[in-house]
Amino acid sequence: FQINMTQLQLDEELGKGNYGTVKKVLHRPTNVYMAMKEIRLELSPAKLDGIIMELDILHRAVAPEIVEFYGAFTIESCVYYCMEYMDAGSLDKVLGIKTTAQGGGWEGELGEGAPEDVLGRIAANMVRGLKFLKDNLRIMHRDVKPTNVLVNRKGEVKLCDFGVSGQLDNSIAKTNIGCQTYFAPERIQGTTAVNDVQEAFNTYTVSSDVWSLGLSIIEVALGRYPYPPETYSNVFVQLQAIVHGDPPGLPEVKPVTDGDPFEVHFSEEARDWVRCCLIKDPQRRATYGELLEHPFLVADAQREVNMVAWVAGALGRRQLQTRVREQLLNEPVSV
Ligand code: ATP
Ligand code: MG
Repeated sequence: FQINMTQLQLDEELGKGNYGTVKKVLHRPTNVYMAMKEIRLELSPAKLDGIIMELDILHRAVAPEIVEFYGAFTIESCVYYCMEYMDAGSLDKVLGIKTTAQGGGWEGELGEGAPEDVLGRIAANMVRGLKFLKDNLRIMHRDVKPTNVLVNRKGEVKLCDFGVSGQLDNSIAKTNIGCQTYFAPERIQGTTAVNDVQEAFNTYTVSSDVWSLGLSIIEVALGRYPYPPETYSNVFVQLQAIVHGDPPGLPEVKPVTDGDPFEVHFSEEARDWVRCCLIKDPQRRATYGELLEHPFLVADAQREVNMVAWVAGALGRRQLQTRVREQLLNEPVSV
């Protein structure tokens, strides 16, 4: 079926990214809730039609680890893109991590980090999703990061926002890359000045997504972006750290924070898996097949993980945090 705006009833805003806004909508003819992404582009109607045509291959991207695509349309200079609504939101939201696209958090505000069994299940889903895109659609994701991994209360974990449309990707040129980069070293190398950033970000292969996957998994484990906070405020300090510094790793024991008084251990298998993703030489980085056969994901396939309980628990804690924060803000200040 063809979706158009007159069939949609707008609901709440789900989030804002660097390039557009995502809203929850009700598709009245089918009574299905959807997530609608609005991307404003200053392009000719012919070019916009080209993008809609390219997005059509998304109808073939049907897999348990991929967010379902329902259709896209344009109005004036905007592309509207309708996909499966994931009622727990992106991983960063579930974990309470503030991203730079949302203006960053205040100092010391960390997310909560997932336990190892949940981490394994998330990693397995991400690898299967990425492998599906590569093997069945012959595409790379190009934007693997926690905000593009969505979760629902059924405990499902799915990928969204992969680069199917070359024209769309080109039009939303990544000028605003933010200060938390998931790009592999080879995508950054050669960048010397601010103006170069855009052109330099183009030498990537399938294994560049593997780097971003490894970095995302560490972020999910720790509840914070893996490079040190000093690098957030300056894009180039961060790019230098990625290209010239040692790759981050999963610590044996998670650093204890205020919000998380328990000592969290990560197994040697989990740590080695992440290490295989974050090899700086793209040729030597693990492939999806190798990552699936690694003991970390073999263990995942053999155990039961209660993802439903984990999602419910994490969302409950986020609600509580919001309520406490609101109360603190409303409290009269005595001078
Ligand atoms: P960037 O613009 O750098 O890609 P982003 O991924 O955060 O960053 P968007 O893709 O515009 O930006 O998404 C904004 C937010 O909307 C996401 O962080 C996510 O929390 C929410 N969101 C996106 N798609 C869905 C969906 N299908 N269901 C539920 N929430 C969603
Ligand atoms: Mg996104």
